Amino acid sequence: MGQLQERYKNYREPQKYMEAGVYPYFREITSKQGPVVTMGGHKVLMFGSNAYTGLTGDDRVIEAAKKALDKYGSGCAGSRFLNGTLDIHVQLEKELAEFEHKEDALCFSTGFSVNSGVIPAVVGRGDYLICDDRDHASIVDGRRLSFATQLHYKHNDMADLERVLAKLPQEAVKLIVVDGVFSMEGDLCNLPAIVELKHKYNCSIMVDEAHGLGVFGEQGRGVCDHFGLSDEVDLIMGTFSKSMASIGGFIASDKDTINYLRHTSRTYIFSASDTPAATAAAIEALHIIKNEPERLKHLWDVTHYALERFREEGFEIGETESPIIPLYVRDINKTFLVTKFAFDAGVFINPVIPPACAPQDTLVRFALMASHSKEQVEEGVQVLKKIFVEQGIIK
Ligand code: PMP
Repeated sequence: MGQLQERYKNYREPQKYMEAGVYPYFREITSKQGPVVTMGGHKVLMFGSNAYTGLTGDDRVIEAAKKALDKYGSGCAGSRFLNGTLDIHVQLEKELAEFEHKEDALCFSTGFSVNSGVIPAVVGRGDYLICDDRDHASIVDGRRLSFATQLHYKHNDMADLERVLAKLPQEAVKLIVVDGVFSMEGDLCNLPAIVELKHKYNCSIMVDEAHGLGVFGEQGRGVCDHFGLSDEVDLIMGTFSKSMASIGGFIASDKDTINYLRHTSRTYIFSASDTPAATAAAIEALHIIKNEPERLKHLWDVTHYALERFREEGFEIGETESPIIPLYVRDINKTFLVTKFAFDAGVFINPVIPPACAPQDTLVRFALMASHSKEQVEEGVQVLKKIFVEQGIIK
């Protein structure tokens, strides 16, 4: 037996849940991603997606991707740096920079590689990196790759952030990196307070708009725009894998910082560029996001409806202000049970367990899309209510 096999043969954590019949991961989908998907041969209501704008099955997005496939082929076979730059990559960057009110932008192959490639490129030895302790894993990994001194503050605790900043040298480069919308609990960062501290302590700010793009702000520009603070944020990061119905990510900033990143960010330079189909789909999705405000309105209608209904039924839903609704279970086994019973009753939701949250904070994550109807949301609420009552989680 090889060394690795010897080490991992006893890793049986997932099997424990498989044997108990509650393992919820890697379910195969055999249809388009929409409000209803086919999984394991039966149709389920999808409340576990990040496609907030509901554009993944949109005919125009699909058509744009098909056309790009015909024109440019299936892949770029190289880095943006060398043979991998298409005119549509550059077009998307220009449109995103304009959309985010920044001078320039760069597209990466995934949102994860934006965070893991931008953070270590912009701050290094002698600098300071300050993160919210619930920042996304890609920010954590970007942080780990940086030689900057690593500091963090308690989730959304501005007094704690100030305590951290007050100890740092005024002239040192200090970058605060924060999720705009926290992906599991749906709460927003306190950007106005962070901007105040930026001025008081001479810092820079990077905001991850993965879950804010297409959802908050004018035309869905994101949380920075929602607070009217885009100008105060030095680096705006976004992803195409959620509201933009594709795969890839971007960083938007001033032209000098982008010029530097274009020539130094390792996940940008040493990774192949986004496929033509993915890029064209993202462009089309961006156009729809900009031009169809009624989608955003509907997303917020169903979100407010769901928030109100879950509160009325006595669910504990935390501090969410977004289409991401955490339904707290606060017990790992029950979280798996709830997920399984919901799936059996035709409702797909995501279990959130450690390390994505603290052991006492386990929850199921219920997320809305602009393509959901109120009737579908009500069905989701009813199914979950029955299960939560049966499990003794709510009365
Ligand atoms: N940031 C946040 C806050 C995320 O939730 C995610 C994806 N879950 C990412 C970054 C990574 O984005 P992508 O899926 O495009 O790699």
